[in-house]
Amino acid sequence: MALREAAVARGIPISYDKRVRDLRTVPDGVEATFGDGSRAYGELLVGADGIRSRTREILNPDGPAPSYLGLLNAGGFTAGPIEADLDRTPGLVHMTFGRHAFFGWSMAPDGSVWWFANPPRKEPLRGGEFTEATWRAHLLGLFAGDATPGAAIIRATPEVLGPWNTDDLPRVPVWQRDRVVLLGDAAHAVSPSSGQGASMAIEDAVTLGRCPDLADYERQRRRRVEKVVAFGRRNSRTKTAGPVGAAIRDSLTPLIMKLLYRNGDPARWILEHRL
Ligand SMILES: Cc1cc2nc3c(=O)[nH]c(=O)nc-3n(C[C@H](O)[C@H](O)[C@H](O)COP(=O)(O)OP(=O)(O)OC[C@H]3O[C@@H](n4cnc5c(N)ncnc54)[C@H](O)[C@@H]3O)c2cc1C
Repeated sequence: MALREAAVARGIPISYDKRVRDLRTVPDGVEATFGDGSRAYGELLVGADGIRSRTREILNPDGPAPSYLGLLNAGGFTAGPIEADLDRTPGLVHMTFGRHAFFGWSMAPDGSVWWFANPPRKEPLRGGEFTEATWRAHLLGLFAGDATPGAAIIRATPEVLGPWNTDDLPRVPVWQRDRVVLLGDAAHAVSPSSGQGASMAIEDAVTLGRCPDLADYERQRRRRVEKVVAFGRRNSRTKTAGPVGAAIRDSLTPLIMKLLYRNGDPARWILEHRL
């Protein structure tokens, strides 16, 4: 049963379009005030409100704010014909350092192609700089001439998604106080280059569900998530190299991969983690 259905089956109400504006500790619980002026009371408030978390701001009035990592994100899906010779093994993810930007794609079991791209950019986007058409044209320019199917996949995509900035949040001083606790990106946003943000939010939720003590939950989670955020930051950096850095990276990659993988997958500490 899906989580949402399970909640409904237990009579747990779900409300949409409510944004927490303020929190107040009251006897044996927390009272939240929403943007529409309404209020709700609970014995525990879990701030799972993402990278721009209001709950985090309330627990940490002096910051920190998410930091921009010099990288944008794009993506899309296509079931249409692609004018390129593709490896069609379902589920295999291909990742390539292009001359100007990183490109990844995978074939889903239904034969459609899912892709993402990470163009480097020094300054973060201010909204409204691109339309879908200009963003598509920008990406096609970046991947033109690469020995990858990137440009062909983008051309075959009905709607190109993005751009989004890549931000992370390495250390949030206060995770919990009284009966308020942070979870997921609100506590530790990680670069998408780690592929771990959603997984860590789920790990947090399972751990919190087993921990009646909020300080114990934080103790069990903090070290691991901060290590994963640092890993994501390092991965992002490999995608923002300038022309000289990229030339060095590309010539040394075969050797570095051989050394890194000599004892198996170096990221297995992430993938083999058990709660
Ligand atoms: C481009 C990109 C690629 C990614 N790729 C991967 C990947 O491959 N693998 C992976 O594991 N992760 C990936 N992630 C990360 C993943 O999406 C996040 O880590 C994950 O969604 C975090 O879950 P969350 O529940 O903590 O926050 P969110 O999913 O951000 O959910 C927060 C929710 O809180 C709501 N909210 C915000 N403010 C308030 C408020 N004041 N009051 C009430 N509600 C509020 C929001 O509307 C939202 O519904 C990627 C992220 C990006 C941007």
